[in-house]
Amino acid sequence: MDLAHERYEELERHILETNPSADVERIRAAFEYANDHHGPQLRKSGEPYIIHPIAVAEIVNELELDQDSIVGALLHDCIEDTDSTHGDIARLFGVQVADLVEGVTKLTRMQYTSREDEQMENLRKMFMAMAKDVRVILIKLCDRLHNMRTLQYQSDKKQKEKALETMEVYAPIAHRLGMQKLKWELEDLALCYLDPVGFHDVEEELANITTLHAGFLDNMQAHIEHRLAREGVQCKVYGRLKHIYSIYRKMYAQNKTLNEIFDLYAFRVIVEDIPACYNVLGCIHDMFKPVLGRFKDYIGTPKPNGYQSLHTTVVGKDGIPFEVQIRTWQMHQTAEYGVAAHWKYKQGLANSRLGTEREFEWVRKLLESQQDTDPDEFVRTLRVDMFSDEVFVFTPNGDVKSLPAGATPIDFAYSIHSAVGNSMTGARVNGRIVTFETPLKNGDIVEIITSKSARGPSRDWMKICKSNEARNKIRQWFKKERREENIATGRAMFESELKHAGLTLSAITASADLLDTLLKRVRFGALDELYAAIGYGGLSAQKAAGRIKEEMTRLGRLERQRAEQEAMQASLSSGETVYPSTAKGSAQVPRRSTSGIIVEGLDNCMVKFSKCCTPVPGDPVVGFITKGYGVSIHRQDCPNADPARRKPEEQGRWVKVAWADTGDSTFRTSLEISAKDRDGLALDVAMALSAQKAKLNNLSARSQPDGYAIINLELAVQGQDELTRIINKLSQINGVFLVKRAGG
Ligand code: MN
Repeated sequence: MDLAHERYEELERHILETNPSADVERIRAAFEYANDHHGPQLRKSGEPYIIHPIAVAEIVNELELDQDSIVGALLHDCIEDTDSTHGDIARLFGVQVADLVEGVTKLTRMQYTSREDEQMENLRKMFMAMAKDVRVILIKLCDRLHNMRTLQYQSDKKQKEKALETMEVYAPIAHRLGMQKLKWELEDLALCYLDPVGFHDVEEELANITTLHAGFLDNMQAHIEHRLAREGVQCKVYGRLKHIYSIYRKMYAQNKTLNEIFDLYAFRVIVEDIPACYNVLGCIHDMFKPVLGRFKDYIGTPKPNGYQSLHTTVVGKDGIPFEVQIRTWQMHQTAEYGVAAHWKYKQGLANSRLGTEREFEWVRKLLESQQDTDPDEFVRTLRVDMFSDEVFVFTPNGDVKSLPAGATPIDFAYSIHSAVGNSMTGARVNGRIVTFETPLKNGDIVEIITSKSARGPSRDWMKICKSNEARNKIRQWFKKERREENIATGRAMFESELKHAGLTLSAITASADLLDTLLKRVRFGALDELYAAIGYGGLSAQKAAGRIKEEMTRLGRLERQRAEQEAMQASLSSGETVYPSTAKGSAQVPRRSTSGIIVEGLDNCMVKFSKCCTPVPGDPVVGFITKGYGVSIHRQDCPNADPARRKPEEQGRWVKVAWADTGDSTFRTSLEISAKDRDGLALDVAMALSAQKAKLNNLSARSQPDGYAIINLELAVQGQDELTRIINKLSQINGVFLVKRAGG
């Protein structure tokens, strides 16, 4: 018998040990198929290639995965390394197995090397997302474990690469899936190649200390077993040393010595049920002195990956501390095998020794599934869609981009740069030209074809793309590049929305006053501006039309109320019947207003006094309708309100305003004093203000290098009269040659 068959027979024996009713014929067929296809291929070790898939199948069997997984493991390199296809495998071993093999192949083809560290998280996610069935990942992890175990045959460079990948990608995935045992082995193997010196240091120190503590593990174990037996606790006790990588991390990252590591030795006590866990904890604490602050109850509060146990650290013989982990058999399976424990449970259930299906609750939680399918079906069809809302694709340089699911080449182009999106003329996915709306799939390599003469994005792109980033960048482009076009499209969209709302454009533009009021409602100065905003997508036509309609309704109602009031008053005074009038009220007569300002045509609108010229009652003023902050009031002589400098498109936003009766309220304003600098100048200014009973809010004086001084004042005054009086007084101060209002 050749080596291949020898190894296979061994595997078959092990499979039958785990599962006596295994369909051995099918498994053997898979072995023969793989053996034929790999033919004379050799591994770096010089062994026939088939030895590798057999070894992977051994590990899969140790995890007690199902038969499809074992068959899949035997065939896992067939698509990648032989002329075998998905179709061939599907015909002979079923679609399930073929899908598994293809999934593993895809993961194998992912190249991690030479990537930046920060991309590792993306890679991990991508890895998870690419496997539609969690078994694909499990087989891939077994494959990686065997490759790591046989890494000594590879070149130095390859060893480092694979070890890094294992540490950065595979071990964290094993951790996420809760597979501690596999994770530890991967970590130790990877460390051995990444930092051989550190690895052997730890190994050596461990050897030294265990010689020193000779018999400690056995001794303690016997001690614990004896006591628990006396208490009548059904249990199994295991003692072990922590795995090398975890010690290495504590020594190097946390800078601890071996003596400072409390959990160098760890015991596991595995019991039948949860009450027994707490019972054992009591015994342990009774036997040994517990270390304060080291007790953790992961039974009450499981770890996010489903791990449950009680942890405590106690001090044993000769003051050597050790950790004790106490858990049930179920918890133990979960802790060691994670997701893979599912199949173990399934077989356990057949002997009805283990709990109910409810124990899988954590698998569901772990994988964040919404559906409540039966666990078996669930795990089989389990897409590891923790990341189902994301898709991971590559640039031609191999950078990973994460995009929302359903993303298109447009999203991809804009995720690189807006310039790429704006000059995009085509796209290639995996080397083939595709349309812009093609949804991207995990692992696609996407290349954007650009041209300097590109006409820029089309409006349809905003509907096609999935990411907000792309949509915003396209909108931005339209806003900047296409004002004329925006106005035309915006106008058409607006008109059609108005029609929906039962209005016509001509009804709105009927009077300039009405149009003005309506535009103010949507915060625009001119119709073109409104159109442009709708055109580039900054404002939806529907919203604009809706607001205009509201405003029309409101104005109509006000008009009716006013007409009714007038009619009532008229009829009271004359006794005649008066018909509603449409005469406009005048805003010229000062009325009471909370802000002190009456804005023509607007009642009680928000008013703010501009900081540039700080107007006070009595100043001739003018108003400007801002976008969003109501009306800002300027002095008529403020440079910012100079009619010659007003922008034509903002013409409609300048409004007439008048001071109302402001009563006792005061207004903030600023003055600037220029003077010859001298001692006591600021003091004199302050005295003069105080004599005038002026309310001073702020005073700052600065000496100029040329012997002059500038003093800025902030005052609160009731009006222009008071201000003029103050200015006069200040002008009389010795050395002052100019007192002026800010902005004037
Ligand atoms: Mn392989």
